[in-house]
Amino acid sequence: MLPVVALVGRPNVGKSTLFNRLTNTRDALVADYPGLTRDRKYGQAKFEKRQFIVVDTGGITGDEEGIDAEMAQQSLLAIEEADVVLFLVDARAGMLPADQGIADHLRRINKKVFVVANKVDGIDGDSESAEFYSLGLGEIKQIAAAHGRGVSQLLQDALKPLETDFPDMEIVDEEPEEEEDAETQRQRLQALPIKLAIVGKPNVGKSTLTNRILGEERVVVFDMPGTTRDSVYIPMERDEREYILIDTAGVRKRRKISEAVEKFSIVKTLQAIEEANVVLLVIDAREGITDQDLSLLGFVLNSGRSLVVAVNKWDGLSTDVKDDIKREMDRRLGFIDFARIHFISALHGSGVGNLFESVQEAYMSATKRINTALLTQIMEMAQDDHQPPLVRGRRVKMKYAHAGGYNPPVIVIHGNQVDDLPSSYKRFLMNYFRKALEIMGTPIKIEFREGN
Ligand code: GDP
Ligand code: GDP
Repeated sequence: MLPVVALVGRPNVGKSTLFNRLTNTRDALVADYPGLTRDRKYGQAKFEKRQFIVVDTGGITGDEEGIDAEMAQQSLLAIEEADVVLFLVDARAGMLPADQGIADHLRRINKKVFVVANKVDGIDGDSESAEFYSLGLGEIKQIAAAHGRGVSQLLQDALKPLETDFPDMEIVDEEPEEEEDAETQRQRLQALPIKLAIVGKPNVGKSTLTNRILGEERVVVFDMPGTTRDSVYIPMERDEREYILIDTAGVRKRRKISEAVEKFSIVKTLQAIEEANVVLLVIDAREGITDQDLSLLGFVLNSGRSLVVAVNKWDGLSTDVKDDIKREMDRRLGFIDFARIHFISALHGSGVGNLFESVQEAYMSATKRINTALLTQIMEMAQDDHQPPLVRGRRVKMKYAHAGGYNPPVIVIHGNQVDDLPSSYKRFLMNYFRKALEIMGTPIKIEFREGN
């Protein structure tokens, strides 16, 4: 379990800038999907030897109405779930009423807060940030998120107190995996139940779908072996395959008074994705694809998990409307062309059974053995079909490939100047491998190593 750091502040103080700086290191997979250009609102961050979840709460001003109020509500929820809050203010713009509104809220909750004066590049940081002491939240950290200045010190201070509670946040150096290790991992994965997380924003129908699945005659549900802090794990069997359903909607959770507020949780969702082998992302057909859906998709892609998309509430729609929705899905989800999309009605049960075929397929693909000889052969074919470009006057030369891991399949390519391959060529390779290996339902990750 990783700690959660929330970025809070009014619009334009530099939250996205800081967010991007913190999450970029782990963006390799997402960078390969050009359709996903939206700012993601949460992601996994890495700083020196530590990792954590960072949530950009979006701009809160403290006096929202209507739809903004709902968004602010989500932000407050994120703050609620955070272990540390970084409250950003703009040292250049000075203190505004909205800053005070947010500070009022933060002072009321019992949470570790750091006031961060951003944009201190080229100004006298000490004098420009002094006025923020009056927010009553203690010491002011000065940073320039755009240039990285002060960020390292800020994180040292913010993450240090979390170490005892979150031992997992320390990144242990991994030995580079050899093929034997990858193969051992693969066999282990194949022998285990498939961990399937059902995720989606509030009200898309996750609970209805989970209940529907658990109620199916072909499904045998076992006793729960206890719960973690957040999601509930439900072991089940279907078509002689074992699954563990990770229920983020809290279907099987004991009812609590705070249920309504607790029901949707960003952190719970992120953790469920990390723990899953396959993610079933539920989207509401009637709402189309929202920023929140894209945000979740970004996290699924980043995690490398297999993915099946269920467009729910497909009942009672006219053919015209259905055609429109399908067109929108094609247009906006083109970048996840590896994932199967199902149109279902959790309420009536239609299409639900077929989901499992895609889940199985995705997991098989994610754990399908890929050997060195075959990979190298496919790589050579790709290279013949479409030569890598010249870099600094020399042609990039890929020499051989081997498996570096599974779920997602990792293909390690060795060669000369392979680090310099443009992303368009990497995408070409990815698609080439996908076709040749007949892999569906999982992203493929390609890693490049210089030399032999
Ligand atoms: P958000 O709305 O809080 O997410 O703010 P953004 O990250 O979008 O930043 C708002 C503006 O401030 C952008 O034009 C950024 O380029 C700029 N900005 C962010 N960080 C810095 C910084 O450290 N120094 C300066 N000078 N500008 C910054
Ligand atoms: P969750 O928040 O994602 O767990 O969503 P719920 O399962 O609680 O469903 C939210 C609302 O959508 C409820 O009123 C459900 O009855 C409704 N709903 C769920 N699935 C469907 C469906 O397939 N069709 C229709 N028409 N409504 C649905």
